[in-house]
Amino acid sequence: ASSPTPPASFAELGLSRLTLAALKTVNYRVPSPIQAAFIPPALEGRDVIGQAKTGTGKTAAFSLPLIEMHEPGQPGPQAIILAPTRELVQQICGEFERLARGRDLVVRGIYGGEPIERQLRSLAKGVDVVVGTPGRVIDHLQRGTMSLEGVYHVVLDEADRMLDIGFRPDIERILRKVPQPHQTLLLSATLSPEVRRLAARYMHEPVELNLSRDEPSVEKIVQKYIPVDHNRKMELLLHLLELEKPRQCIVFCRTKRGADKLAQRLARRYPGVATIHGDLPQTARNRVMRGFRDGSIPILVATDVVGRGIDVEEISHVVNYDIPDDPENYLHRIGRTGRMGKDGVAYTFVGPDEGIPLTNIEVLINKTLERVVIPGF
Ligand code: ADP
Ligand code: MG
Repeated sequence: ASSPTPPASFAELGLSRLTLAALKTVNYRVPSPIQAAFIPPALEGRDVIGQAKTGTGKTAAFSLPLIEMHEPGQPGPQAIILAPTRELVQQICGEFERLARGRDLVVRGIYGGEPIERQLRSLAKGVDVVVGTPGRVIDHLQRGTMSLEGVYHVVLDEADRMLDIGFRPDIERILRKVPQPHQTLLLSATLSPEVRRLAARYMHEPVELNLSRDEPSVEKIVQKYIPVDHNRKMELLLHLLELEKPRQCIVFCRTKRGADKLAQRLARRYPGVATIHGDLPQTARNRVMRGFRDGSIPILVATDVVGRGIDVEEISHVVNYDIPDDPENYLHRIGRTGRMGKDGVAYTFVGPDEGIPLTNIEVLINKTLERVVIPGF
């Protein structure tokens, strides 16, 4: 593990003028610490493990080297990026395309929920970089509609989450199909024993970058909890929204049905409320994510699986309407706000019987949450 001081500029990291110009258009002025540490060894062709908290710019950390190392005219795909959810796949595609501006480089997202025919057509036309969920990638490999023959770079993004979801067998099958030698880049918010085992098995003398100790990203978020009876959570939420007037807000629920019900009730007061969870068809999920991103949806009610990884800069508030059972999910939820140094507030509603999950969270983040008492609650 190492924690280098960040260089002052992207130019010092060895990026080309074309890339520096693209960085200017997206207004990234200086590399984040994980970018500063990750990009040079990745450009040298090393296998790299990058661990840093959510919201610290891991997408560009792996995308920029891939863009630099892309060889025009070679058969594709030359690179395959695996990510846990459709939303993350779409987000990565978007960022990759913006950073690859001005280059002849075709990026394609491959995920379940989109008609496979459309993916077949674009794969047949030729793509340089595939971004996909492991399940759908396996699907295409089995159908013979995608080949990994030309792949030289593999990225495992949000590796911890992919393993949590149970993608390990799919990931391993894919990795075994990539011709040797190749470069593997792994990004993760946490380095669990499972992630380490995967890295040990499939990576070659990786450079390991462990930045969590230096990254204050989640610490920047103001974290509070509000004790409340279960049957008064809705009232409390309405009150809180009035009080805080969030720019944009994600409200997390434990279940899909709970999320649906809450969104319906909220929509009576706030017309722009939408919900997103794994049971919605992909077209609906896309529509919701677009609306949330462009600001026409100010309040999004989500479950953990889909909420994780959503990156919308204007999210000022996260409300844990239901406290997460797994403290790790708490970190992933609140990481939706406070992106790249912006400030954010996270409120957690705690029922009378929910002291233990609260304590587990406090143990994990190693601090006590501030208790807020709202008059009347
Ligand atoms: P992570 O994958 O670590 O959770 P992301 O790659 O999603 O983080 O980046 C978080 C946010 O920071 C995104 O909105 C992204 O556009 C922005 N970002 C990334 N790198 C920079 C940078 N160097 N300067 C400014 N903003 C950046
Ligand atoms: Mg990420």
